[in-house]
Amino acid sequence: MGRDEVASLLQARGPDLAALYARADEARRICCGDGVPVRAIIEFSNMCSNDCLYCGLRASNAVPRRYRMTPEEILQAVARVAAAGVAGTVVLQAGETPGYRDEEITALLRQIRGKFPALAITLSVGNRPREVYAAWREAGMDRYLLRFETADADLFARLHPDGSLADRLQCLRDLQELGVQTGGGFMIGVPGETVETLADNIMLCQAFDFDMIGIGPFIPNPDTPLGAAANAYAADPDMFFRAIAVLRLANPAAHIPATTAFDAAFPNGRDLALQRGANVFMPNVTPGACRKDYQLYPKKPCVDGDADAEDGLGGVRKRLQALGRPIAGGPGHSLKR
Ligand code: SF4
Repeated sequence: MGRDEVASLLQARGPDLAALYARADEARRICCGDGVPVRAIIEFSNMCSNDCLYCGLRASNAVPRRYRMTPEEILQAVARVAAAGVAGTVVLQAGETPGYRDEEITALLRQIRGKFPALAITLSVGNRPREVYAAWREAGMDRYLLRFETADADLFARLHPDGSLADRLQCLRDLQELGVQTGGGFMIGVPGETVETLADNIMLCQAFDFDMIGIGPFIPNPDTPLGAAANAYAADPDMFFRAIAVLRLANPAAHIPATTAFDAAFPNGRDLALQRGANVFMPNVTPGACRKDYQLYPKKPCVDGDADAEDGLGGVRKRLQALGRPIAGGPGHSLKR
C-alpha cells in the first residue's frame, strides 16, 4: 500500500468510512482469524528517568508513589496469568531505568522462562544497547514493544528531550536483527501532528514489517507540559479508528492490539477497535495496589480494579463473547508463536 492511498483512506467519510471499516475487519479475519490473542500486562515499575512531555510517569512529575514490584511479586502475578489459562503471553512493562537494572531484568526473565515455559514473554522498558537486548533474548524474552510514537524526527525531538527518533529506530532494528518479535507503534493526534504525519507513521510500520503494532490516541495529561493541549483530532474522533483500519490494510498480518487508550478516548473504544482492524486484547493484570500509581494519562481504565476484576483477566471472556469472538487458542493453549 502506497503513501498516497494511505493518506487518502485517512480522509474517508460517510459510506467510504463504513466501507473502510468493513475492509479492515475482513483483512483482519482473513489474515489473523476470529480468535483474539490475549496478552496480559504487568506494570512492574513506574520509575523512569526520562521526561517525555506527554507522560504522567515522567521523571519530573511528583508521582505520589514510585514503586517497583519485587521479583517475587512479579512471579506471583505471572503465576496468576498462567493459572487463569486465558492469556498466552505476559507483557512486562515499566518506565526506562532506574526501576530495575538490566541484569536484574535478565535474572527475572530467566526465572519466568524456567517456571512458565508455555507463556510467551514480552518486555517493554524502552531504549537499551543492542547487547542488553541480546542478553534478554538469551534469557528467554520472546518479544519487545517499543513504540516510535511519531515518524516526524523534529516532532519526536520536541516530545522526547532524552532521545532521538534515529536512536529509537536503531533499537528497533537491533531487536529485529536479534530475532526478537518486535512491536512498534505510535500515538494518534499528538499536538503538532498532521494527517500527513499519521500517514508517515503507518508507512514506517509497513517499512519495518513489525510483528506487533500498538497505537492509541494521545490523551492530554494535566500533570504534564502538554496538559492543556488538545488531541489533533479532538473534533474528529473517527480518526482514531480510521488510523487503526488503515494500519490493518497496510500491515495485514501484524498483531494489532486494541489498546487501553481507545477505551479512555471513546466509549467502548477497545470493542470498536477490535471490529475495525485490531485483533489482540491486552488486559491489565497489575496488582491493584500498584495500578493507581501507573497513570500514563488521566481516566486510564481499570485503575481501580485488580487482576481478576472485569477489566482484568476476569472480564476478558465475557467482553469477547459479547463481540462474538473466541479467545485465540483457547484456555491453556500456548500462543507463544
Ligand atoms: S513514556 Fe515511557 S520513557 Fe517516556 S516518561 Fe513515560 S514511562 Fe518514561
